[in-house]
Order: sequence, then C-alpha cells, then structure tokens
Amino acid sequence: MKDQIISEDVRNSLKKTFKQLVETVAVEVYTQAGMNDQFNDSTVSFMKALPELTDKISVNFFSLKDEQAIRRGVKRSPTILIGPDQYNIRYTGSPAGEEAASFILAVIMASTGKTYLSGDSYKRLERLKEKRHVRVFVSPTCPYCPQQVIYAVSAAVEKKEFISAEVIEIYENLDLAKKYGAMSVPTTYIGEALLSAGLQPEDSFIESIVEGKPVEYVMPVGREEMRDYDIVVIGGGPAGLTAAIYGERSGLKSIVLEKANVGGQISVTPVVENYPGFVQIAGKALVDLMAKQTLEYSALLQGVGVNDVRKKDGAFEVTTGRGTYNAKAVIIATGAYSRKLNVPGEDRLAGRGVSYCATCDGYIFKDGKNVLVAGGGNSALTDALYLDSLGAHVTIVHRRGAFRAEDRLQQSVFQRNIPVEWDSIIEGISGEKSIEKVSVKNANTGKKKTLAVQGVFIAIGYEPNNSIAKNLGLEIDEDGYIKVDAKMRTSMPLVYAAGDITGGIKQIVTAVSQGATAALAVFEDISNPYWKKDL
Ligand code: NAP
Repeated sequence: MKDQIISEDVRNSLKKTFKQLVETVAVEVYTQAGMNDQFNDSTVSFMKALPELTDKISVNFFSLKDEQAIRRGVKRSPTILIGPDQYNIRYTGSPAGEEAASFILAVIMASTGKTYLSGDSYKRLERLKEKRHVRVFVSPTCPYCPQQVIYAVSAAVEKKEFISAEVIEIYENLDLAKKYGAMSVPTTYIGEALLSAGLQPEDSFIESIVEGKPVEYVMPVGREEMRDYDIVVIGGGPAGLTAAIYGERSGLKSIVLEKANVGGQISVTPVVENYPGFVQIAGKALVDLMAKQTLEYSALLQGVGVNDVRKKDGAFEVTTGRGTYNAKAVIIATGAYSRKLNVPGEDRLAGRGVSYCATCDGYIFKDGKNVLVAGGGNSALTDALYLDSLGAHVTIVHRRGAFRAEDRLQQSVFQRNIPVEWDSIIEGISGEKSIEKVSVKNANTGKKKTLAVQGVFIAIGYEPNNSIAKNLGLEIDEDGYIKVDAKMRTSMPLVYAAGDITGGIKQIVTAVSQGATAALAVFEDISNPYWKKDL
C-alpha cells in the first residue's frame, strides 16, 4: 500500500528537489517498540517514502538491539543517521514539522558536499583542528530552529573529520533536555557547554565552534569589504522587506540586513488574523511568502547584524560583522523586542520555562502541563489560545480587569474556558533547574497565591530596538520610538524609519505600508532633496 504521510503535492515538489542529489546518501533509521512509539511510526513512514521519490537515497531500518545500533552508538528511538560512513549527522527524534525542511537540506548537503555557509565561515573552519560535538535542541513548531540546524549540519559536512551535529527533538527526549537544562528551542551546546539559547548569527556560531566556547561578536576574516547600495534596509520584518521591494522597483539598488531570521515578530506569531488576503495564516507562512517575493527583487542577508551607521561624505557607512556597506539612504526597520516583567527569577529561568515565544517553546508543554500567560493584549490571547490548542493547561494572568485584545480573540478565550487571574501581577518565578512555582498577587485584594506551573509565557508588549537611532542622534519620542513624518522621514535627511520602531498601532498592514512609503520617499528625496530647498 502506498504510504500517504507525504501529500501528493509535497511528493512532487520533493521529487524535483531531489534531482539535485549527486552521490547516493545512506540513511539509517533506528527505532525500538515501547520508546516514543507514536514518533517511531511517523518517522518510519516518512523514511520509507523517501526512496520512492529518488534513487539517490537508500534507507535501512534497524532496531536498537541490532549490532548496527551498538556499532553506531545509537541508544534512542527514533534516531536517524545521515550518511553515517562519511558524516556524523544525527537526528535524535523525528524530523517533523519545521524540522522536515532541515532534514531534507541535510540529506542534500550530504549528497552534494555543498553547504549553506558563507565564504567567511569556510575560512574560519580551516582553523579547526579538534573534535567538536554540536547539539541543537529543536521542536517541530519552532520557526528559528531549522536555520540553526542548517548551520550545524553545514559545519558537520564541511569539516566532517572534526565536527559532529546532533539535532535533538526536545519533546521526545525530555530527559536529555532536563539533563542539559534546555527548555526552549533552539538551544545549542558544544560538547557539554551551553553555546546559545535562541538562533545565533552564522558568524558567531561558526566562530564559537572553532573556539569551542561562546563567541559574541566576530569581525570579518581578514578584510573589510565595501559594497555600494542606494538603500540599506536594517531589519527584515514586514516593513523592511516591503521597503526593499519598493526600493528596487523604483530602480534603487537595495539590500536588507537582518540580524537573525527574516520576519521579525510575525515569524513567531502562531496565527496572524486579518492580514488582507488571509482570514488566518500562520505567521511563518506569511513571512516565507514575503521573503520569497523580496528575493525576487532585492538582496537579503540573514544573520547579519548592523553594529553602527555613520554619516560619511553626504552618504552613510553601515558596519556589520560581515564588513561595511555604503548607502545613499538608510531605512531603519529594526522593530521591537519583547518587554520583560522584571520580576525575580525571570532572567535566571529564561529558557528554562520562561519564554517570550509560544510558537517556539509551547510544544514542550503540550499534554497537560501547567503554564501561565502574562498579558492582556492580542499577543497574550493568541499565545494562550495556541497553548490551549496544544493541550497545555493555560491560565492568563492580567494586571487589569479587562483585556485590551480584540473582541474575537476575547470571545475565543472565554468560549474555551481558559481561566484568567484578573487584576493580578506575577511577583516572582521560582524553581531550581526549571520553573516550579509562580507567585501571583491580586492588586485589588492584596491576596497572594502560589501556582505550581512549568512554563510562563510573557506577552506584555514590546520595547523599541532603537540603539542605531540613538547612536545616529535621531529624534525619538518619550517611549523610545523614532519620530517620523508622513513620508517616514526621520529628523536626519536620507534616514527613514518604518514598522514597529516608529510606534503606533503595530500591525503588519501598517508596517508594510510604512516600508513602501519610506522607499518611495527615498526615491523622491534622492532626485529632489527637500532639505536643500529651504537653503
Ligand atoms: P500590547 O497590545 O501592548 O499589550 C500588552 C499587554 O501587556 C497589555 O494587556 C498590558 O496591560 C500588559 N502589560 C504591559 N506591561 C505590563 C507589565 N509590566 N506587567 C504586566 N502586564 C503588562 O502588546 P501585544 O499584545 O504584544 O500586541 C502588540 C501589537 O501587535 C498590538 O498592536 C497588537 O494589536 C498587535 N498584534 C496583532 C495580532 C493579530 O493577529 N492581529 C496578534 C498579536 C499582536 P494593559 O492592558 O493594562 O495595558
């Protein structure tokens, strides 16, 4: 009987993708009845389907009791090894959801020997002369995880004699997660040492592997490249991506520099509602569409953070870990970061139950774990509904007696009977290795209670990422947002801002509109400088 774990559309698209395979890749799949059975079954079905799509993948199945498992040191079910006679690439757990894509790319890398690293990274890896084992904890719903996995697997392919990469599905291996203290994804370890919680830029990640310890900031290898653009867009959220599209369509050479992954906050928004054209769409799916469209026009670099922007000879010099970019105009679309509660235990237990990303970390709490969501806005309610749909026991803690979230979300929360601690604030989060208890105080009665929970999702709004604006001396308002006029011009000629960094209602529709407006204003101002008219 034909296995239908992969839909017909995906089968066809995979058949096309696999045409680029060069060498045959041996995949070994290890399972053991009684250990993660539901994931064993789906993994085996998925792996059985692969050789039907290409003759360049051979799959062999083993039990953990087989000699082969002992020889390969496989003790967990399911485990998948990719090209094990040549490489050390291991999926401990099923490559499901977001991770299916990284698995396919890992197979392609093993077959072609080509990886997804930059020239700088190849040079850095040449310095490595010792063995390194890289572990990346992931979950099927984590949008940031595949990128971190691709870096790790690329390194393992590039330096196969020294680097081994292990991708660990966190929910299927909770004992390992506990051992390492990983309760958020992606979390990466080199050997036994924590490298990073969250996605790391490629440069720092590769340098950290080479050094064998976390390296924060990395200068480019041996050279300072200069590249010339009309517009450098800083930030790859909806505002930045749209600015680049409109910039290029106006004939202005544009590049987007994004310090992490494209998409900004929407890439971790479980469901975006009411973006015109989509009644509902997963945040990551919308980002992927936007990024694809942007790449048809503009350059777009991920994992490239901007360190500084300086005025130079009537233009701008934008410095990054990958060298310097020259720009006639700069559009700042750096967005905002999640606000903290600033309560005891929050920092210490971040990544150990405290999370600012329900999409990334919610999966660990499915199946009845107790979690709190702090906040009363659209984000908090969206997160609460998402966690509830995963099967977590959710309680919302909100500081007032009414939500500010839109009515539809409120109705869904009430319909699903998600409990709410009204007029309440979280006073402290405690636990030894991970969260055990949270103390909550009712602001009206002064009564305190201690709730036994494993997770706290904080969704209490955002603070602007305004360091570049401050360094440039732009005017910002009392809340830290960049002041702009109707054309998204800042207080400095040829510097524009768009999206959440400008404050306002923080909607995707407004962000894309501001990105377009900013790019069109650049076009207008370059040909007709408004600041010179008054002279
Ligand atoms: P938000 O609208 O600013 O709401 C923040 C919530 O956190 C408020 O309920 C606020 O309480 C509470 N809060 C703020 N500081 C707090 C603190 N220190 N301690 C405890 N509670 C605190 O933020 P958001 O929900 O993240 O939304 C941000 C923007 O994104 C909004 O414009 C929203 O509409 C948009 N968004 C849209 C969607 C969508 O699908 N359309 C989804 C998510 C977000 P008060 O109510 O008392 O001020």
